[in-house]
Amino acid sequence: MIELAKFDYEELIKHRGTKTKGFLEVALKADGSMMKIPYVIAVGAMDGPTLLMDGGIHGDEVEGADAIARVFKEIDPQKLKGVYLGVPHLNLEAYSIGKRVASSIDYTAADMNRNMPGDDVNGNISSTVLAKYVKNFVRHADYWLTFHSGGNKLMLSPVACYTTPHLDKKFGDLTLKMARCFDTPFIWRNDPGTTIDGDKSMRAMSDKNGIAYICLEMGGNVMFGKDREEMYRLCHDGIKNLMNLIKMTDGPEPVFREDIIDVTVEYLHNTHGGKYHMVKYLGETAEKGEVLGYVTDVFGEKIDECIAPYDGIVVGTWTPPVIQPREWCCIYGKIVQD
Ligand SMILES: [Zn+2]
Repeated sequence: MIELAKFDYEELIKHRGTKTKGFLEVALKADGSMMKIPYVIAVGAMDGPTLLMDGGIHGDEVEGADAIARVFKEIDPQKLKGVYLGVPHLNLEAYSIGKRVASSIDYTAADMNRNMPGDDVNGNISSTVLAKYVKNFVRHADYWLTFHSGGNKLMLSPVACYTTPHLDKKFGDLTLKMARCFDTPFIWRNDPGTTIDGDKSMRAMSDKNGIAYICLEMGGNVMFGKDREEMYRLCHDGIKNLMNLIKMTDGPEPVFREDIIDVTVEYLHNTHGGKYHMVKYLGETAEKGEVLGYVTDVFGEKIDECIAPYDGIVVGTWTPPVIQPREWCCIYGKIVQD
């Protein structure tokens, strides 16, 4: 058996005031190249919490990955309290082919974010990557950020997802503050039963392990140029604000915007496939029964509509011209007031 490069957290944190980047190796592929998990770790000269971040659990989502790496480059570990721990591309295999899941290597490719905590005994290789992530990284976290985006198929308004305060006395208020560090126009209140990810998600994993957790959703690969840079900037500035909030750095307490809209979010499905025509754009409001988008067939006839189920706001939308049956035509927010 060959020796694989490990991630030895206990050894790394002995070296105060240092920064290290590298790979945890997982397995050799048939072509001789290595499956691996990239990581960055900055160990502060002073005591403090461990902030864990991951991006790219869906391989076609890059905004958070970029920010994790950029902030790492800027950190002065001599001025840092605690540990900055990042996995910019958790699903590196899927990233390398520009896809959501690692279909290049998994015979039965599963969505990593519906498969926590992974399984390195009976699971496939993506499940093994997850298990290694949980065992080597997640268990050290005091705070946990995970970054998603619209990837190849969706475009999302920046939205930060937190845990409903009155349902989670321990972390609710804290995760709300963490979410607001990202200066997004929407924050997504995650009531039990409203998450689409189920009990094998990171969110469920954080609940079980008592970690203060938020999820960021923003952008998508349809964005380019300045719009994409703006998504990178929001992720980057949000991480830095959050590090000030939890006292890892000595910057000012973040100032939260007043005009934030608190929503619960639902993923709406179309029934029929065809050409998708967006009617309501990101951030636009709709009344119950209004058409958010519609589908036409090869003869240009309208065959399906995506209808607002209640008064609300468009948080995300399908972007490629072609939509398959039962896709996510719209990510729709219900405004909550209390
Ligand atoms: Zn995602």
